[in-house]
Amino acid sequence: MAAASSRCGRVASALRRVGSSLLSSGCVAQVKTRSDKMESERVTKLEFAVQMTCDSCAQRVRAALEGQPGVRSVSVDVGREEVLVEASLSTVEVQALIEATGRRAVLRGIGGSEPDLGAAVAMLAGAGQIQGVVRFLQVSEERCLIDGTIDGLEPGLHGLHVHSLGDLTRDCSSCGDHYNPSGRRHGGPGDAERHVGDLGNVVAGPGGRASFRLEDSQLKVWDVIGRSLVVDAGEDDLGRGGHPLSTQTGNSGERLACGIIARSAGLFQNPKQICACDGVTLWEERDRPDSRARAQQVVRARLSNGSGRDHFETQHRRVELLSEEGRRRCSGS
Ligand SMILES: [Zn+2]
Repeated sequence: MAAASSRCGRVASALRRVGSSLLSSGCVAQVKTRSDKMESERVTKLEFAVQMTCDSCAQRVRAALEGQPGVRSVSVDVGREEVLVEASLSTVEVQALIEATGRRAVLRGIGGSEPDLGAAVAMLAGAGQIQGVVRFLQVSEERCLIDGTIDGLEPGLHGLHVHSLGDLTRDCSSCGDHYNPSGRRHGGPGDAERHVGDLGNVVAGPGGRASFRLEDSQLKVWDVIGRSLVVDAGEDDLGRGGHPLSTQTGNSGERLACGIIARSAGLFQNPKQICACDGVTLWEERDRPDSRARAQQVVRARLSNGSGRDHFETQHRRVELLSEEGRRRCSGS
């Protein structure tokens, strides 16, 4: 308990350093960057498939969501097993509220703008138990919402960056440098002088979870599909650390986990309930503990001979394979 309190204290200290506040429980991981203005309160529309068979189920789901801070509206359709939520909460937070009723929920689509400007998802995997899902939603021409949860991290700050290559042939080491189309120096997400891929730091709480919801004005969904997202072992100094690597990488250490950024479904674009491949339902798929990591393993294995290819070709092939894998598995991403 003392050790946990100590870790909690370190995380609290880290959060204070980045100018953010702890939630009421004192040790809940809230993921922040140094620049508070990057945090997003924007309302997005989240479409969940929720296992419901009766009106009373629907009422319980509705009751679990309505009135919650950050939830603006709730629409439940029992026949279609569909719950549409307008909220400024993260996808994981909304999913947790629904699943607190004892029902399983799978995010099927996300939207935030008319017309649909695009969405993407990266499933992060790495050594050990690190896993994460990070979603990108282009909410306007100028703003990209980045919503994610990464588990299995050491408590504290971790640099998060979009890298230029969607290449996992040598795990995260083949992802290339930070995505930097304008040839700039490394910086923080609130800086004009930065790499487009510089998303700053996320903060993992004592349980190892980093959960975050940010907005970025430089990163565009259409520019990063086919590239990769990497979370690092250490804190990104945002170019201010004085270390030789500060202006290149933020000196944030080893690459811990990574994933290819693939296009994902907008609202109502993903109606499948059962996988054509093996008859596994969406709900069974949801409960497979290794489903995220497995999708990436398949991609890696199938591209194990691709290391000598032109990177451009490799990227496109990876996106095709991810799409193919996604269709085959009907994962709902
Ligand atoms: Zn950078």
